[in-house]
Amino acid sequence: MQKKRMLTGDRPTGPLHLGHYIGSLQNRVKLQETYEQYVMIADGQALTDHFMHPKEIAKHVVELAKDYLSIGINPAQTTILVQSQIPEIAELTLYYLNLVSVSKLERNPTVKYEIAQKGYTSNIPAGFLCYPVNQAADITLFQAEYVPGGSDQLPMIEQTNAIVKRFNKLYNTHILKECQIILSHMPRLVGIDGKAKASKSLGNAISLSDRPEVIKQKVFQMYTDPKHGKVSDPGCIEGNVVFAYLDAFHPDKETVEALKCHYSKGGLGDVTLKNMLNDHLQCLLAPIREKRETLSTHAIREMLYDGNQRARQLASVTMGMVRDAMGIYQ
Ligand code: ATP
Ligand code: MG
Repeated sequence: MQKKRMLTGDRPTGPLHLGHYIGSLQNRVKLQETYEQYVMIADGQALTDHFMHPKEIAKHVVELAKDYLSIGINPAQTTILVQSQIPEIAELTLYYLNLVSVSKLERNPTVKYEIAQKGYTSNIPAGFLCYPVNQAADITLFQAEYVPGGSDQLPMIEQTNAIVKRFNKLYNTHILKECQIILSHMPRLVGIDGKAKASKSLGNAISLSDRPEVIKQKVFQMYTDPKHGKVSDPGCIEGNVVFAYLDAFHPDKETVEALKCHYSKGGLGDVTLKNMLNDHLQCLLAPIREKRETLSTHAIREMLYDGNQRARQLASVTMGMVRDAMGIYQ
């Protein structure tokens, strides 16, 4: 039986972190068994807000691919590709841009949040505003029906499906497929600073490649309850980052519930709690880091070359259908 196709991606703006792990990577490792999986390193999309530093983005491409392999993405089962190496994506984006209004793009909740976060006021780069369209091209070029991602991706999927419907209706065709998101059980991991989302750009995340001492330092920086001054004071769970991470990464839910109960009553100190979380995260991340150290840059570049070749074959098939459906000069 033909496997269903799935596409996800990450921007090579920095090392992957625990938010990626829980929000998307774990799913990808599981799903690569049953789906035909494409994973895209979105270097073109990264440039929409990092266009001043293209060389930095290029360096992160290889590092990101190392992160993938170190958490268990298997290049024999998953096609890993680099967005800038697939020119068909740019072509498809160009055609899709005509199908979306600027006001619709301005209302995209994730883009709106990111614009505020980046402090863009009247100077929003057009490429940044339009990145959901670029993402629609990524997904549909590979005819992906499923997209594992965090909750920030919901508006992108909605935008993709709106483009698919508009395209199919306008050009009287059925070639484009709508897609659906696969959300993990933890679709948004908070930052260590308590901000709504751990993110590469905000520097508020624990990276998969962080050294043990850095992990510990970040755990001890985590925002807890500022009113929990003495160990005997009752502490608040709501908004407490340590508990958010224990919920996400502690394997035993009953233990976490007991800790929450103890913390709210008083008598459980932040240091004890942070030491416990640190122990768990060290156990989780040590094998990932060790695997990463065995990967050579040369082998990674070869793997990416192969992935790009495979991806371009499918891209050219889809583009042939798109150009036919539109009646573009050939
Ligand atoms: P940047 O700050 O450069 O935007 P990012 O940390 O947001 O980086 P992306 O590359 O934009 O990471 O996101 C890649 C994937 O990881 C998306 O599917 C996104 O939903 C998911 N993801 C990113 N951060 C989190 C998080 N904190 N919790 C859950 N999922 C996340
Ligand atoms: Mg992001």
